[in-house]
Amino acid sequence: MLTVNSIKKGIVIDHITSGKGLKIFEKLELDKADFPVVLLMNVESNELGKKDIIKIQDEIDLDFTMLGLIDPSITINVIKDDKIVEKKSVSLPGEIKGLIKCENPRCVSNHDIYAIPTFSLVDKNTAKYKCSFCDDFTYYKL
Ligand SMILES: [Zn+2]
Repeated sequence: MLTVNSIKKGIVIDHITSGKGLKIFEKLELDKADFPVVLLMNVESNELGKKDIIKIQDEIDLDFTMLGLIDPSITINVIKDDKIVEKKSVSLPGEIKGLIKCENPRCVSNHDIYAIPTFSLVDKNTAKYKCSFCDDFTYYKL
């Protein structure tokens, strides 16, 4: 079993669906971080079989909407003095702004840079979103 030094202060993003860790790592721009960051992939997990984990040795602001969109199953642990002081879970966001593109090629949000695409969740199971500009449906895909 792989062990990594525990972190005194920082954030652990746990229960990432195996394979999505790298995507989250990139989206959070952790490849550009100047503080210690660890990405663990394919860690044994009781609930998930295998999971990815990201450990960040710093306090950074996380975009919960984006995290929930990529992987609603993750949990976020905030660490202080070697202890978990806060546990947060994410969920598929009910509304998203600017993170995805409308699938309708004629939608105004794909042509006007001032029209920030905004979507509301229609179906949780398929990550189906409705565009506020054209009412077309867009599915979030990783
Ligand atoms: Zn649209």
